[in-house]
Amino acid sequence: NIRVRFAPSPTGGLHLGGVRTALFNYLFAKKHNGTFVLRVEDTDQTRFVYGAEEYIVDCLNWCGITPDESPQNPGAFGPYRQSERKASYKQFADQLIADGYAYYAFDTSEELNARRAIEPNFLYGQKSRMEMKNSLTLSQAEVDKLLAENIPYVVRIKIPENEHVSFVDMIRGLVSFDTNLVDDKVLLKADGMPTYHLAVVADDKAMEISHAFRGEEWLPSAPIHILLWKYLGWEDSMPQWAHLPLILKPDGNGKLSKRDGDRLGFPVYAMNWNDPKTGDITKGFKELGFMPEAFVNLLAMLGWNDGTDKEIFTLAELIELFSIERISKAGAKFDFEKAKWYNHEWIKQSSASNLKLSVKNALAENGIEINDEEFLLKVIDTVKDRCNLLGDFVAQSAYFFAAPSEYDSAAVKPKWSPEKAAFFKEFGQNINESATAQELELEFKAFAEAKGFKPGELMLPLRIMLVGGKFGPGVFDIAKLLGKAETESRIEKGIA
Ligand code: GLU
Repeated sequence: NIRVRFAPSPTGGLHLGGVRTALFNYLFAKKHNGTFVLRVEDTDQTRFVYGAEEYIVDCLNWCGITPDESPQNPGAFGPYRQSERKASYKQFADQLIADGYAYYAFDTSEELNARRAIEPNFLYGQKSRMEMKNSLTLSQAEVDKLLAENIPYVVRIKIPENEHVSFVDMIRGLVSFDTNLVDDKVLLKADGMPTYHLAVVADDKAMEISHAFRGEEWLPSAPIHILLWKYLGWEDSMPQWAHLPLILKPDGNGKLSKRDGDRLGFPVYAMNWNDPKTGDITKGFKELGFMPEAFVNLLAMLGWNDGTDKEIFTLAELIELFSIERISKAGAKFDFEKAKWYNHEWIKQSSASNLKLSVKNALAENGIEINDEEFLLKVIDTVKDRCNLLGDFVAQSAYFFAAPSEYDSAAVKPKWSPEKAAFFKEFGQNINESATAQELELEFKAFAEAKGFKPGELMLPLRIMLVGGKFGPGVFDIAKLLGKAETESRIEKGIA
């Protein structure tokens, strides 16, 4: 039974790296008819952000990668929030202590801070643990007394000396860690909450997780988790690990982080809470005008390919083609320009009716209400090749819904003449309503030549009169779509 989990902490928005982890878990599950679980890792109450869980769920839905089991849609392995599983963790901490794999530590934060003040690189572990206040240094009687008095304590794992912890990562192959470089991480906090390390192991076991895909930043934690699986006697049911490559900036330097002040660190969606640092509502890929299909496509390509040059994949194709062997170990570069290219390709290949709702909303946000949806569909078909982001439809199509109020007259003025004005007036009056764009063009050119103009010198003025500036698709496509009455009226207004 294949069961994978996406296990975010509800501490803020879901960023590129997080949602890519979700996607790879999802693809693997769907490829193997498995189950994709969402588990909310909310044991760190100090970093909890209200609304973040809902936000994560919405993001996954928007991407089309809805979990099979989640807090909202529980299966047989609930609860799906770690805070609701609190009661289950202490027994494991107790078991580890009884078996000599973990110990109580009573050091106060003042004592630890004092120690760190003298020794900035202080690590609680093999070298230092015997100098601290814990159940390895105190007598059993002293420990019992402190516990009886409800003196706050944490439980720490006792990392062994001079050992190697090894495992086979599905992406990286054999990975090995020297235990002398690992410190005695806290497993149970003074408030009785487990830390991530204990909770992740206990829950992967309880939820029968078979494979765990997570970011490479979790690789240093792997030896702690593997020791816990072993110490709890569960080695046989440990999931297979896959640590996904880091996402890097386009120059290949530096890990992408939420702290990048630029769009690289954008969340999927705008968060409906303000950024604690800037006080702003941070926009996400959705608000920037990405189609979910394009977003999922570009995420999949961050560290994976199908072995060919193919770059555009639907979610169904990704599920079919996904393979762990084709995930790279090397960091994946994220380039916003390339991301826009994916979106452009998706807009191009999408039908107008598929784009309609998003375009309608984008236009509405800019004060353009659509009454004639048939007309909107034609407009979308005419301009979609020119749009990278959904928002581009506003500038690319606004002129279809309202005559330009400003003209780029600098582009025309110097060569303007009363003869030209007369030409346009007559052309407008004689437009044949039923002509195709191509026929309109032929008629326009023939008429221009008959009047002694080079057609080329009249095309730009016509465009400026119809759309206001030097942009847009073929000018006769525009005229055709606007229709005779509107084209004529814009010409009248333009020559005035
Ligand atoms: N809660 C961890 C996170 O926020 C999960 C890491 C893991 O998948 O083990 O990313």
